[in-house]
Amino acid sequence: MDSKDFRSVLEAQREYFRSGATLGYEARRRALLALSDGLRANEEALLEALRLDLHKSRFEAYSNELATLNSEIAHSLAHLRSWMRPRRVLPELHLLPSRGEIRPQSLGCALIIAPWNYPIQLALAPLVAALAAGCTAIIKPSEISLNSEKILATMIGKIFDPRLVAIVTGGPEVSTELLGLPFDKFFFTGSPAVGTIVMKAAAERLASVTLELGGKSPALVDSTVDLLAAARMIAWGKFNNAGQTCVAPDYVLVEKSVKAPFLEALRAVIVEFFGEEPKLSPNFGRIINRRHFDRISSYLSQGRIVAGGERDPEALYIAPTLLDCDDWDAPVMTDEIFGPLLPVLGYSSPEEAVDLVARRPRPLALYIFSNDRRTRALWRDSIPFGGGGIHSTVLQFASSRLPFGGIGGSGLGSYHGKAGFDAFTQYKSILIRSPRLEPGLFYPPKTMPLALVRFITGGGHMRRKP
Ligand code: NAD
Repeated sequence: MDSKDFRSVLEAQREYFRSGATLGYEARRRALLALSDGLRANEEALLEALRLDLHKSRFEAYSNELATLNSEIAHSLAHLRSWMRPRRVLPELHLLPSRGEIRPQSLGCALIIAPWNYPIQLALAPLVAALAAGCTAIIKPSEISLNSEKILATMIGKIFDPRLVAIVTGGPEVSTELLGLPFDKFFFTGSPAVGTIVMKAAAERLASVTLELGGKSPALVDSTVDLLAAARMIAWGKFNNAGQTCVAPDYVLVEKSVKAPFLEALRAVIVEFFGEEPKLSPNFGRIINRRHFDRISSYLSQGRIVAGGERDPEALYIAPTLLDCDDWDAPVMTDEIFGPLLPVLGYSSPEEAVDLVARRPRPLALYIFSNDRRTRALWRDSIPFGGGGIHSTVLQFASSRLPFGGIGGSGLGSYHGKAGFDAFTQYKSILIRSPRLEPGLFYPPKTMPLALVRFITGGGHMRRKP
């Protein structure tokens, strides 16, 4: 397809949207069920593509990609009727007699651009939200996860009428063409650098935009916790998909007095999870390509390697690696690592930990490991971050009941469950008056007294007793 074809696909989607065919409850439900059936019918091919692209085990591929999608679809189906229902509100005294209505209105035609690290899930979870909201969608998966891109294209082509959902394959040049088209909604998951390009494109059209970006997500660990339990949760979140997870703990900031035993606990946990030779473990992934392999490898010299450090460029393998690090200005501490490399740094007081994190770009996720309520509240409340966990990593992503998104450089807007529906919806507010009950109090020349207006609109309440 070239740019002329993209435009005609979008025009066909716009016609279809205008016909109202996507908007009814039954149409939305049918589309979600079709996606669910398609996932089931193509399960083996999808798991195989994920193995080929990222060496994901069946368990990891199913639980991180397909299970998340299935539960997102089930949640949307269970709540769709209530999400679609208009809500009534009673307007303020000065607007009576009247009633107010808030009616969810589908945004229209959406463009979904996805990355390579969870190539199936991150292309289709926004689609679940778009379909629930009654939108049409063009999906542009990542060209880097080639096998997943291929199966997605085949599957979507089989399931959907292209007037409802179409898929376009290719790299940045294709995205650039698509970004030039008049979509009503741009939904992007990927790097902050490309996020900026997408936001500019959306600004050109004054279109709605959601950006799901990345960045450095810290885990903070103090001396009050069970270090082995914290190490297990952090290592699991970090080394899943070989560290190529947007919400993986990027680095650990641990209370200095327990840094040595914590590193020891992490080292033991890596052996427990992946054996003495992680390269042979079916549960440990590979780096997506040579460019990222070289990028991550360059960080290995920016700290003292405490565990791991082995690499095999042919196999795109980098061992789960712990880096004892204290240079906040080294690239490993300024770039998003996005690989199986975990720098561990020390802090002296909970306030210093806040200062070290809050001074840097706002994280997509923050993970808090402390049994001290005051410390937990301090870290939770004084650091701006997208979302996160307490005694938990990554799992906040898996709940349809928790809106998922970043803040500042880590994203704009959120999705999953109702938040996803909202991301593709405009709430139309309508004030309804009865022509038969029109007191005409606003119309000149017989307007109501100004003092009355001041009183009923709250002007009188502003005065405070000394
Ligand atoms: P990326 O930004 O390089 O690519 C994402 C998508 O944008 C791809 O489909 C790609 O083809 C397209 N693209 C690339 N360059 C483009 C350009 N110049 N113009 C228009 N489109 C372009 O990201 P990636 O390497 O695929 O993914 C890694 C990044 O994504 C990391 O920063 C990670 O944290 C982030 N991420 C975020 C989330 C989240 O949910 N917040 C999830 C996964 C990944």
